[in-house]
This record gives sequence, C-alpha cells and structure tokens, in this order.
Amino acid sequence: MRCLKCQEQAQVELRQHHAAYCRDHFLDFVGKQVQRSLEHYRMLSPGDSVTVAVSGGKDSLSLWDILNSLGYRTVGLHIQLGIGDYSKQSLDKTLAFAQERGLPLTVVSVEEEYGASIPVLARANRREACAVCGLSKRYIMNRAALEAGTTVLATGHNLDDEVATLYGNVMHWQTGYLARQAPVLPATHPKLVKKVKPLHLLTEREMASYAILRGIDYIVEECPNAKGAKSLLYKDAINLVEVESPGTKQQFYQGFLERLRPLLKDGDEVQLRECERCGQVTTAEECSFCRIWDRARLLLQRVP
Ligand code: SF4
Ligand code: ZN
Ligand code: ZN
Repeated sequence: MRCLKCQEQAQVELRQHHAAYCRDHFLDFVGKQVQRSLEHYRMLSPGDSVTVAVSGGKDSLSLWDILNSLGYRTVGLHIQLGIGDYSKQSLDKTLAFAQERGLPLTVVSVEEEYGASIPVLARANRREACAVCGLSKRYIMNRAALEAGTTVLATGHNLDDEVATLYGNVMHWQTGYLARQAPVLPATHPKLVKKVKPLHLLTEREMASYAILRGIDYIVEECPNAKGAKSLLYKDAINLVEVESPGTKQQFYQGFLERLRPLLKDGDEVQLRECERCGQVTTAEECSFCRIWDRARLLLQRVP
C-alpha cells in the first residue's frame, strides 16, 4: 500500500476515503480536516481563546495537540472525578502531556472543590454515575471556561461518538436531543460559553492513529462506569455495518447535519435565568448542579 500523496510506504489506510497515507501525510490530513471543520462550521475565529476539555484519552489530548499546532491560544481543563485508579491514571497522562509541551493546564478536583467524588454523588442521588457525572462535567467545563476568560470550549467528541449519540437519539426518537446535537452550540447567554467539537468528522481509529504517530501517551482504559453503556453497543453495531460498507458512518452523520437537523426546532423557547445559589445559568430558581451536590454533602455528614 502506497501513500496517496508521495507514493512512499503507507502507514494508515482510510477505506471510507479510498486513501492511504504515510505518517507525515496522514498527520497533515488530520490537521486539514480539523481546520476545515473549524472554518466550515465557524467554530473558531482568529481572536478566540480556547479551553480544551482533556480527560487524558486519545481524542482530547490529540485535539489539544492539533489546536496548539494550528496556532490557537489554548488552556487545558482536566476534571478529577474521583473514580479510583482510572482518575489517577488520567490525571498522570494529562499532567505529563501538558508539562512536556509547556501548555497551561487547570485541574478541578470535584472532591476538593465540591466535597465528594462522582461515586459518592451517584449514591447520594440514587442515580447512575454517568447521569450525575455528565451533568457535573457540563457545569464545571462551562464555569471553568468562563473563569479562565476563554471564549470557546472545545471537546474531543469524534465521529464515532457523534454517530453513536445520533443512533441512540433516532432509536428512541428523542427529537429534542436531535435538535440540540450539533458540532457548534452558540453562547445563548453571557454566562454560557460557545461549545465546539472540532473532531466530529474524524473516526475513533483515525484519532488513535494520530495519537500513536504523534507519540502521545494517553490512557487506553475506559472509565469502569462505561461498561455496558448503550453507546458502546451502538458503536459496535455501526462498526459492523461500516466494515461491509465503508463510509456509512460519515453519510449517516453528515446526512443528519445537512438534511434533517435544519428542519428540527430546538424545543420550546426556555427562559434562562441565573441560579440563586451559584449564579450559573439554569431554568429554575436553583440549578440541578447545586441540588445534586447538596445531597452528596448531606450524605457525607450522616456517615461518620
Ligand atoms: Fe463519567 Fe460515565 Fe464517562 Fe465515567 S463513563 S467519565 S462516570 S460519564
Ligand atoms: Zn506520503
Ligand atoms: Zn447553582
């Protein structure tokens, strides 16, 4: 197999694009794909400063690497969730990445900042860990991005993540979620930061290849709470189709963005206000974040 650009030995084959690339031309391909998304979807403007949410995984560390190489002003944000060994390892990988490249990194530990870990928070609220974790991460990312004075929050969602979410939303006809699934969510309130997903057209395999070829040391293990998640089942199902019919993933997702999404209304107009406790944006007097974390602190007071 030869590189499409230089005819040297190819290192990565991209069946969905009918192409193969050597190391340098593959890295170039990824950088250009990201740059195209940034421009086409108007994700970033030259004056923007970006908070990059980094978990220590291949996608988020690669995203930080790419945005930095493209010359954007970036700050990394890592949230320590207190999920045993997984959290410790993700912090180690993230710290090492930032230190080696001299990039600024903010670490928010939920235990130090809010008084409990995600497992305790889930127990106190009698909810699945992922439900309270997702809500908390969204809140902390938005708040930290604002406090850092950055204008955009970038996350490492790749094409496989977006397709699995889309598949789940279609399977259950979650029209509200479908209307809000987008590569760019504009800031609709002064206390909401613009959110972008620059890797949304790159597959999980492409991102793993990018990370390996760039020598990025990332955490390979999944969070233990991801075991049995529906999104993993959907990814497996879609990958089975993709093997037989390369390009299906991309067609499904881009078809949604171009043909269906413009027809969907983003639900009823909701009245946004500021939480009386923390000042962050919510629709009620008190936001869900303040409510669920109160329960965790109460539980810890009761347990000697
Ligand atoms: Fe949080 Fe669930 Fe993701 Fe683990 S799998 S980091 S608990 S959302
Ligand atoms: Zn080449
Ligand atoms: Zn609040």
